[in-house]
Amino acid sequence: MSRVINFSAGPSVLPEAVLKIAAEEMLDYKGSGQSVMEMSHRSKVYDGIIKEAEALLREVMEIPDNYKVLFLQGGASSQFAMVPLNLMNKSGKADYVVTGQWAKKAAKEAARYGNVNIVASSEDKTFSYIPKLDKSTFTPDADYFHICMNNTIYGTVYNELPDTGDVPLVADISSCILSRKIDVSKFGVLYAGAQKNMAPAGLTIVIIREDLIGNAQEITPTMFNYQTHADNGSMFNTPPCYTIYMAKLVLEWVKNEIGGLDKMYELNQKKADLLYNFLDNSKLFKGTVVKEDRSLMNVPFITGDADLDAEFIKACTDAGIVNIKGHRSVGGMRASIYNAMPIEGIEKLIEVMKEFEANHV
Ligand SMILES: *Cc1c(COP(=O)(O)O)cnc(C)c1O
Repeated sequence: MSRVINFSAGPSVLPEAVLKIAAEEMLDYKGSGQSVMEMSHRSKVYDGIIKEAEALLREVMEIPDNYKVLFLQGGASSQFAMVPLNLMNKSGKADYVVTGQWAKKAAKEAARYGNVNIVASSEDKTFSYIPKLDKSTFTPDADYFHICMNNTIYGTVYNELPDTGDVPLVADISSCILSRKIDVSKFGVLYAGAQKNMAPAGLTIVIIREDLIGNAQEITPTMFNYQTHADNGSMFNTPPCYTIYMAKLVLEWVKNEIGGLDKMYELNQKKADLLYNFLDNSKLFKGTVVKEDRSLMNVPFITGDADLDAEFIKACTDAGIVNIKGHRSVGGMRASIYNAMPIEGIEKLIEVMKEFEANHV
């Protein structure tokens, strides 16, 4: 068996140790005589899995008791509608910061259900920075304030949260969940598609302050109402059972193998530093993001010559490195270096970059 070094932005690499446990338990989950894929979501054994997944997420992320954890489907993209449907219920207004395609899509969807104020945007420079925010431009009576914390396509991250006062802060954390500690109490809602840093595709995590549940707009479909899922322990209908099980295994890995989120952050910093330091000193490759807003998870870089980029991507493929092509709106390359990417993968990438540079400068 030979595994590639996979820099995919999502779905992305999973810890090998987790995949091995999943393989071992595939035919017979802990003596139940069934695969987790086959069991009833109402069974006692599955109840243990979903409860453990939630308990682990609460422990690892230090989620306060006045927040609900929901295991949903529909991806982060469904949250672009669920958030306004459930939260735009007083003034009908919300503030959005547009820092990339996902944030832009979220704002566009919200505008179908209420008044969206774009507080700031970094589209003028291909989203290569996080805009400085001026509090006087915030809507004082907004129902919420939305940000995309880590911008997967462009490789930027918020290092400082906007001060929204009493207005609930809502964040898309699809590509940075579990990468470092987040002070959950600073947010009204956090949501994430699991396929970047947590599990395979199919699961969406929502962490929501309890007082924000129960006032959805009249038109809200039952399945899009947070209350439906909060009242039923994410079991109103069939949850994404197997993906929740995989998330449980990943959480066990973060807790027991890595040692928690502070350790995870240390490792992620070390990995990102290695790559950014190489980029900063390279004569051929350069990062596309301003230094102070660089993401720990997604690292876009270019040579400045599209033909050379293509040639480099080919050299990567030959070296067993896959999914390194950048998003079409940025071009060049993007290395997504999520939790499960071992440091050896980044070392190998740098080795290939060094060799390519030596042959092309
Ligand atoms: C991938 C991604 C999305 C879209 O997620 P889906 O689960 O495919 O809907 C939204 N936001 C961010 C930040 C992402 O990285």
